[in-house]
Amino acid sequence: MSLPKVDKIWMDGALVDWDAAQVHVLTHALHYGSGVFEGIRCYETVDGPAVFRLTEHIQRLESSGAMLLMDMKYSVEDLVQAVKDTISVNKLASCYVRPMVFRGYGAMGLDPTPAPVNVIVAAWPWGTYLGEDALENGVAVGVSSWRQRGINATPPAIKASGQYLNSSLARVEANQNGYAEAILLNEDGKVCEGTGENIFIVKRGALYTPPVSDGILEGITRDSLMKIARDKGYEVTERSMVRTELYGADEMFMCGTAAEVVPIRSVDSREIGDMGPITRDLQETFFSMVEGKEPAYESWLERV
Ligand code: PMP
Repeated sequence: MSLPKVDKIWMDGALVDWDAAQVHVLTHALHYGSGVFEGIRCYETVDGPAVFRLTEHIQRLESSGAMLLMDMKYSVEDLVQAVKDTISVNKLASCYVRPMVFRGYGAMGLDPTPAPVNVIVAAWPWGTYLGEDALENGVAVGVSSWRQRGINATPPAIKASGQYLNSSLARVEANQNGYAEAILLNEDGKVCEGTGENIFIVKRGALYTPPVSDGILEGITRDSLMKIARDKGYEVTERSMVRTELYGADEMFMCGTAAEVVPIRSVDSREIGDMGPITRDLQETFFSMVEGKEPAYESWLERV
């Protein structure tokens, strides 16, 4: 997907021109994947641009960094403000926001701690990740031949740059096989997640989603949908699941900041079907909420 260019990027405390936001080729993160990042969405509402669960995303960024012994140099409040400044200086009504904290230039080798830490916040307009059609008609997905990394090797709970090589392998394989997305299983065969999305299935009116202990990123969209679903009276259980439970699901969907809420119409060519009523109910509330039309979830919207 080509990158739409805007005016400014926030870099180490200052808003600089888009083309001036550059690093040295010996930047540590370029060689060893030693960066942590977030993907955040800002939506247009009647009261202006609103960032969905901004503080929680920056807290997760800080936590990913801390797990890699990286001090992000700025407080959560500073980076929340940096995100708002980046959106407003670029006059964006709705956009995708990409903060990143990474090991910079000045030291090499596998101990990253001597390398300096740099922080950037970029934002750009970004439409639906899997396409408009995907939101209504759903996508075909395939279980990947690549496995989710174990919880004791590049842990899935840390949202670090290097982790996404595995996601890329799975995503490319899925696309080459004619699927829109991949589902990754862990080495025990337990269902984990998509390459950049969490997953839910619906069976006999109840929702199920894999637990953090099976090796997933604890998605903020996943958390939001669990809350919305429970508020609507659906039962939601976090528990391990195996591949055949996907085949036997009444409904299934993926969710994430980029993908939003996308119904899954088939898994490994086993038909699940058109978007089911529970998926539709949650998807409708999700979009109405991010547009500022659900007073119950107003606190999740942080106005620019
Ligand atoms: N899993 C992975 C591997 C991801 O990259 C993402 C996107 N950040 C998610 C799940 C969904 O997380 P969130 O809802 O916080 O965007």
